[in-house]
Amino acid sequence: MQKKLFVFDLDFTIWDAGGTWCDATNPPYFKEKEDVYDSSGRCLRLYPDVRRILTLLKKSGKYMAVASRTFEPGWANDLLKLFQIDHFFDRKEIYPDSKVRHFRKIQEHFKLNYSEMVFFDDEYRNIEEVGRLGVESVFVKNGLDKDLIKPFL
Ligand SMILES: [Mg+2]
Repeated sequence: MQKKLFVFDLDFTIWDAGGTWCDATNPPYFKEKEDVYDSSGRCLRLYPDVRRILTLLKKSGKYMAVASRTFEPGWANDLLKLFQIDHFFDRKEIYPDSKVRHFRKIQEHFKLNYSEMVFFDDEYRNIEEVGRLGVESVFVKNGLDKDLIKPFL
């Protein structure tokens, strides 16, 4: 089945917030070249292939969404803007809860079947819960990279 909607977790999938989750960092953030730092000097980075992947998916006419359980949605949104990737996402569900709730909201918004979605996340419990809905769920071990996306293009 050709996937129409690509859904991404944030922490340890799209970015590495300096070896931790973004809700454990110390805003305000500032940007220097491609990288973002928090007020304690911690460097937050997108994984190297991320920008290229999002650009490619957008060009291919795919929809994209974020599903994140972070305790600091405002900080996550700040980071999406600082990394200049916010505009790629047609929908963002960012709040603590089971990702099943995030996907119900996403499903209501896009009116697509779960079988038309693919989900990328670095936590196995999310993969299991969302997978049970019928969403093809891909375990991300070392950050999102082009090899993980390739089977869906
Ligand atoms: Mg994560």
